[in-house]
Amino acid sequence: MAVTPGKVCVSCGRLTDKYVEFKCPSCGSSTIIRCYHCRETFTKYKCKECEFEGP
Ligand SMILES: [Zn+2]
Ligand SMILES: [Zn+2]
Repeated sequence: MAVTPGKVCVSCGRLTDKYVEFKCPSCGSSTIIRCYHCRETFTKYKCKECEFEGP
């Protein structure tokens, strides 16, 4: 019943309520969710649509 707050970070796979959300700069169709921790530590993310990797 409970609504899960936040989303899953694509870099670390953790559920987070502090995140940034943006479209993949390569294909533009996939939404990238990135937690603040990964953003601060510049952890790589990978687009699940086109496998683009970026900081
Ligand atoms: Zn993360
Ligand atoms: Zn992509």
